[in-house]
Amino acid sequence: MSLMTGAEYIESLRKLKTKVYVLGERVENFVDHPIVRPSINSVAMTYDLAQQDEYKDLMTAKSNLTGEIVNRFCHLHQSTDDLVKKVKMQRLVGQKTATCFQRCVGMDAFNAVYSTTFEIDKAHGTHYHENFVKYLKFVQENDLTVDGAMTDPKGDRGLSPSKQEDPDLFLHIVERRPDGIVVRGAKAHQTGSINSHEHLIMPTIAMKEEDKAYAVSFAIPTDAEGLLMILGRQSCDTRKLEENADVDLGNKNFGGQEALVVFDDVFVPDDRIFLCKEYEFAGMLVERFAGYHRQSYGGCKVGVGDVLIGAAAVAADYNGVPKASHLKDKLIEMIHLNETLYCCGIACSAEGKKTEAGNYEIDLLLANVCKQNVTRFPYEICRLAEDIAGGLMVTMPSAKDFNSPEVGDICKKYFKGVASVPTEDRMRILRLIENMCLGASAVGYRTESMHGAGSPQAQRIMISRQGNLEAKKKLAKTIAGIKE
Ligand code: SF4
Ligand code: FE
Repeated sequence: MSLMTGAEYIESLRKLKTKVYVLGERVENFVDHPIVRPSINSVAMTYDLAQQDEYKDLMTAKSNLTGEIVNRFCHLHQSTDDLVKKVKMQRLVGQKTATCFQRCVGMDAFNAVYSTTFEIDKAHGTHYHENFVKYLKFVQENDLTVDGAMTDPKGDRGLSPSKQEDPDLFLHIVERRPDGIVVRGAKAHQTGSINSHEHLIMPTIAMKEEDKAYAVSFAIPTDAEGLLMILGRQSCDTRKLEENADVDLGNKNFGGQEALVVFDDVFVPDDRIFLCKEYEFAGMLVERFAGYHRQSYGGCKVGVGDVLIGAAAVAADYNGVPKASHLKDKLIEMIHLNETLYCCGIACSAEGKKTEAGNYEIDLLLANVCKQNVTRFPYEICRLAEDIAGGLMVTMPSAKDFNSPEVGDICKKYFKGVASVPTEDRMRILRLIENMCLGASAVGYRTESMHGAGSPQAQRIMISRQGNLEAKKKLAKTIAGIKE
């Protein structure tokens, strides 16, 4: 099958019997639900851009498994050039959606599971790599969106999986059957889960022997028996339920999505299992997936940052102060911060290397430095955007007031900036800034920059492990003439 269009992707979701809950209610038609649909549109963009000649080089690649052209979101990176193109693709899609477009978690999981299963098989004589190659061919041939699911609810953070009072707080194997396994538990804040065709599950932390029932990786369809999803709510999400709220939404068409995914005794057939109790490989899988996703943030967040910087500059224009030197300087600072993140994304890609399985992985130290910077810089970029936008961004009346026969004209009169710009355009740009800094897309920009792909401390642990402090001490001693 060839590459899907965005419209075909959206139609394909309708065929699934995905069990979805939104605001406490079961939703049969989640595709057209006003709170869910913007996140589907964001994923659809990953399909539509792949259809356009000008973006084909970034959005598609030749599969090493099938020899066919596939969407890059389904691709195993074959070179450092592929890793660089991945980051550029993510910046592009960030620019087109101004939010999280979700499909990267699958791509990052494919690359991590591919290389890790190769090494598990080498150590244990298992057939996980073969299982995974067969699975990924199916994904590539059908141009699917897959949720790469890692994060467990985790309960008491001071206790390992097997020591939790409630054993389900980490996803685990509850039964072995002749033809597969049964799993129970949940994955929390899963990006793009509801609008994925498939879920690719990975363990959430490194594990010891006592936790081996928790060391499990597998793939299942999103509408598998026993699976259900509860949509996470976002700031201002119910604005999407209001009539004619267009202007108040800031970003009407696109949004991100996170959900709690619950596995209530879900059966997984043998040929879809990629790790089953080989606990010593859980850490490798986590480290690799996290590394790829920390690289990803040097692309997606930069693309969204481009939109936010543009919005702040437009707000300055509409306020009549495009030439104020302090505003120009703030915009320069925002660009500097944003491009620094991009430098990190490109650097960890350019320094990538071949894995034993043959696909390429990023430089882990640089990828972790990338994400550590992402936990800070978007906050500063948001602060500067809010500084430039002015307080009106959060005190402005609603679209209903602006459309009211009684007070609409008053709003339009008193919220006007420069005379040549309609008040509505000024509202639109301020609402877009609100959306990215505080509203629905803040999940995919500001707060996700902190916790997505692992909270800051997770990167600091990796930086301390990869930073090679001993070698640095040696350098210093040599220069200082200290003999040992
Ligand atoms: Fe992709 Fe970024 Fe969203 Fe992760 S946070 S899924 S890298 S857009
Ligand atoms: Fe993320």
